[in-house]
Amino acid sequence: MALYALGILLFRPTSALRGDVVTTWMIGQVSVTRVEEQVGFASLPPEKFIAGLDQAMLDEHRGWLVPNHYDPQADRIITSIHSWLIRTEHHTILLDCCAGNHKDRPGFARFHQLDTPFLARLRSAGAAPEEIDIVLCTHLHTDHVGWNTVRKDGEWVPTFPNARYLISRAENEYGDPRRNPKADADLQRSNAYRDSVLPVIEHGQAQLIDGAHAIDDGLLIEPAPGHTMGHVVLKLTDGSDRALFCGDALHHPLQVYAPHLNSGFCEMPEQARTTRACVLGYCAEERALLMPAHFGAPHAAAIHRRGDGFEPEFVDGQA
Ligand SMILES: [Zn+2]
Repeated sequence: MALYALGILLFRPTSALRGDVVTTWMIGQVSVTRVEEQVGFASLPPEKFIAGLDQAMLDEHRGWLVPNHYDPQADRIITSIHSWLIRTEHHTILLDCCAGNHKDRPGFARFHQLDTPFLARLRSAGAAPEEIDIVLCTHLHTDHVGWNTVRKDGEWVPTFPNARYLISRAENEYGDPRRNPKADADLQRSNAYRDSVLPVIEHGQAQLIDGAHAIDDGLLIEPAPGHTMGHVVLKLTDGSDRALFCGDALHHPLQVYAPHLNSGFCEMPEQARTTRACVLGYCAEERALLMPAHFGAPHAAAIHRRGDGFEPEFVDGQA
């Protein structure tokens, strides 16, 4: 109860502290638009949100952390929850589906019974729900599947009637509470599966994928386990331009400097560190823009090697 009350106190369902709710980057000829659901305080204190984060690191990086990534007055990490709308010549793809509206998430104030204008923002970005032909959830945590479904006549139905929903088979097997007692006991996972994943499967719109999966020549889904067992990333290539959508392989830009630090939500800690280092190495070597699910403004970064580690160079989108 105390945790819940604290959540309400600290949750700020505001739009971005800086920047717009809809912003676009061009990767070659492919447009990538961030569609914001919410920006606010992380649900855990800094040292729990990123396990091992200490005051010295916050102080060292304070110059760029404030105000979009950390609030020193409140001593809270700031994160964004957004989707990426990717439009190629052939496809209109929505990557990750935030927390969604009217979902029961008792104990998780940031996700519980929301009423955000996300679909209006998606429309203002130029995509009606009917126009989405592929939905990709990097994993099945509650803040990545919410807009998979909307409530209609008391039932949860797919929000995007013409979309194939691509889901990692490994993630689906682990996340199905009917098959896995561990997922069943995890209220965030089990509630999200029942109202935001199962209806998509029952409507015949889910496509379970194994291993690497090419959507087309320039879009490749690859396994990236660690945050969760079946977590995937999406690599986008158009001409010489590249982007990597890393989902929750990274939660916060401080992890670019310290890839060994896991979020408090990583389910396979050792594997998560390995995957994070791979993701950052790919971005640095291939000059791919890193487009994560939760970085505060400006939300995307080029990655450079720095000594034994990495550093981010934030890249603004266009409003
Ligand atoms: Zn997440």
